[in-house]
Amino acid sequence: MSLAFIHDAPSQRVVFGAGSIARIGDEAARLGIARALVIATPGSGAKLGARVAELLGTRSAGVHAEAVIHVPRAVAEAGLAAVKSAHADGLVAAGGGSAIGLAKIIARDTGLPIIALPTTYSGSEATPIWGTSEGERKTTGRDAKVLPRTIVYDPELTYALPAAVTAASAMNAIAHCVEGLWAPDRTPVTMAYATEAMRRFGAHLPRAVADGSDAEARGECLVAAWLAGSVLTGGTGLHHKLAHVLGGYGLPHAETHAIILPHVARFNLAAAPDARARLADALGAADPAEALFGMVKGFPIPQRLRDVGFDARKIDDAAGQVAALGITEPRPVSVDDAREILRLAV
Ligand code: NAD
Repeated sequence: MSLAFIHDAPSQRVVFGAGSIARIGDEAARLGIARALVIATPGSGAKLGARVAELLGTRSAGVHAEAVIHVPRAVAEAGLAAVKSAHADGLVAAGGGSAIGLAKIIARDTGLPIIALPTTYSGSEATPIWGTSEGERKTTGRDAKVLPRTIVYDPELTYALPAAVTAASAMNAIAHCVEGLWAPDRTPVTMAYATEAMRRFGAHLPRAVADGSDAEARGECLVAAWLAGSVLTGGTGLHHKLAHVLGGYGLPHAETHAIILPHVARFNLAAAPDARARLADALGAADPAEALFGMVKGFPIPQRLRDVGFDARKIDDAAGQVAALGITEPRPVSVDDAREILRLAV
């Protein structure tokens, strides 16, 4: 890597520890929040939301448990209306990337501060990136306002995370790390985060998937998820760009990342010796792409693009879109290269 970089990471308070959900009221007070609206997903997310509201006590402005993946426009509008009618002056996002994603859109449009209480490994709580969707079209952007001011990580909240969501959301986080080691705007800090996150995921994710109540593995994976999310303050490359193109066909987010990552890693690591050496060291594997294939294979998640609804007849179209992006680092990607990666993943 040439020694020139810009590292621009906004600061964030992170409270980590089993049982730390109990600190939520104090953390709201610390930010001067008097009426926090709790944002959650329906179902088990709503139960968590109710628990958080109870802990917030007089600082609670109620629960809005209507978050949905990729924040469709109508969901964003309903969230903004709920904040208005509750006269909220802050948000507590309790849940995975979907709950945090809705809180981010509300914060983008209102400037309200967010406290995140993450329950998956996708890492959104540590990024200033928002996303919203309209039909199958997804729009993303960066805004310092959407970065949660405080993250409260309580590993106990992740014990009930199903094995499939554990694996898929962690593979999404792992993708941030792997790509973070070859992305053009990587910095010494993001590379250190990525390497350390991979070390923890490599050792503990298979254990957390096999036994969700393994407290040590759950804690280590949550630390890794935080570090992995922090890597996304850097830019993205072939992996995220390909995932974005595939997302355009309506494929599921985290599962798609998991399926394509080993294939993209095999292609890019051939031209990224430093990234390859770091990953080999972190994973304790001579061939890191092979190690990633092995991880995905051992998890209860879809293994091929056709399993998540991708039609092989779209390969040429997708390959054309990827090649048109003019990616050059760590190596150029031609239409034939992209077609081959997709052919192997389908
Ligand atoms: P999610 O929030 O959609 O949750 C997946 C499912 O698991 C939901 O049904 C949820 O209710 C359930 N769940 C979550 N935590 C649970 C727990 N502890 N126990 C039991 N069930 C639980 O999943 P995700 O993968 O975290 O989020 C995906 C979304 O996050 C996507 O919209 C993606 O685009 C976004 N994302 C954004 C960023 C960013 O930086 N902005 C980064 C990664 C992902």
